[in-house]
Amino acid sequence: MLGEMPLPRLVIVSNRVGVPEGGARAGGLEVAIRPALKRRGGVWFGWSGRITDEDPGPAKTAQHDNVAYVTIDLRRDDYDEFYNGFANRVLWPILHYRLDLAEFSRRDLGGYLRVNEYFARHLEKILKDDDIVWVHDYHLMPLAQALRERGHKNKIGFFIHIPCPPPEILTALPNHERLIPALGFYDLIGFQTEVDANNFSRYLTDECRLKQVADDTFAIDGRSVRVGVFPVGVETEAFARLARRAVETAFVREVLDSLSGRAMIIGVDRLDYSKGIPERMHAFERFLANFPDWRGKVTYLQITPRSRTGIQEYADIGRTVGETVGRINGAYGEASWTPVRYINKAHSRTALAGLYRAARAALVTPLRDGMNLVAKEYVAAQNPDDPGVLVLSRFAGAAHECAAALLVNPYDSEGVAIALNRALAMPLDERRQRHAANFKVLVGNDLSRWAERFLATLEKPAMSAAPLRLAAGRVRT
Ligand code: UDP
Repeated sequence: MLGEMPLPRLVIVSNRVGVPEGGARAGGLEVAIRPALKRRGGVWFGWSGRITDEDPGPAKTAQHDNVAYVTIDLRRDDYDEFYNGFANRVLWPILHYRLDLAEFSRRDLGGYLRVNEYFARHLEKILKDDDIVWVHDYHLMPLAQALRERGHKNKIGFFIHIPCPPPEILTALPNHERLIPALGFYDLIGFQTEVDANNFSRYLTDECRLKQVADDTFAIDGRSVRVGVFPVGVETEAFARLARRAVETAFVREVLDSLSGRAMIIGVDRLDYSKGIPERMHAFERFLANFPDWRGKVTYLQITPRSRTGIQEYADIGRTVGETVGRINGAYGEASWTPVRYINKAHSRTALAGLYRAARAALVTPLRDGMNLVAKEYVAAQNPDDPGVLVLSRFAGAAHECAAALLVNPYDSEGVAIALNRALAMPLDERRQRHAANFKVLVGNDLSRWAERFLATLEKPAMSAAPLRLAAGRVRT
């Protein structure tokens, strides 16, 4: 009998590497990758998070169990041009449909391409011929090309965690004709939703004139590149167990005691303009104005760790939100009641799980979001016998799976206010039905299977794959 073939080594590449004991960081990418890497073993390669004014020197390796965490430092000018510059001031806004916020003055790709070359130079020192390479996110779009030009023939996959807009927006990206076709050097390109995959496929057919040789496969210079849909999930049942325990902790009890029996509404987002926090505050203000019976009976807890503090737009949004919260609390608050509690501190997963379970409703209303794991965590955390209600932006990737949430247009503050009133007043039967439907979809798309699905598709021979279709429900309004 033939023995089982050992799995090829997995090499994960992402901008930041979540080295264990490296300090707590809030972010969906890290939560998604770690279980897959631990299961298969291998290497996680990327930036250490350190910036240096000197020569960055060699990569550093930290071995934890079966995973080697290999990190490199960035020179300050590289950090400014690559990370703060092209990645976060050009790619991030444009891929989130925000042409108005893109800094077109930073159109020079130089720093971005230079850092991708720098990644490739270090990566090739550790790359073996049969390694499977999986590159993550918008910082590293040209990395496969840089590796191919160095002669590497490995299977290389790419997953983009953030949205992919239609070609009408993508073509406003400075140097798009250099950057987007570079994705063709990957063997598989994964997206969060069918909408994102279709937008990208349309770019390949309309702008690059590529031939589609199968539902999910394009021919490019004698090779083929596959496009797939792999919505990132959460560890649904594990998170539900965590929430059951967490709601009993001293921290959550203290929060609940401080509410004096009022219903809690929760929002959890990095401070980022894509999350629609000012628009959501306006909606909550409309809610208090239009549904006065709720005044004094609900408290809205918004947990918002700061992010990308070196970028002006992020400082601006921090100020706007702070001012709006002050205005709402000033206008509607009482000596014994503060309508909005706004907190910039990051909370642990356990603390969040407990707070989600204790909250009667969650407001997850990004203007655009690749997936939004908070929405899924909120569903996973609920008590199925007495669940809270998710009010979810139709523009979050999660809306494709959590179709039984109250789906809203985040720009329409009156509409969000009406949905919030409906969520808080919803009868138990309807809450149970909606929660059960969402929970079932999330159990079917557990995070533990996400990475294996992507890797299995990447390892399949080209041209033989069945078209990938999202099994979950569709967006309804
Ligand atoms: N998160 C956290 N502590 C916080 C705020 C957020 O651990 O104080 C986690 C949250 O539970 C979720 C992730 O950070 O798992 C955020 O992922 P999401 O997809 O919602 O948004 P992103 O920040 O990746 O855009």
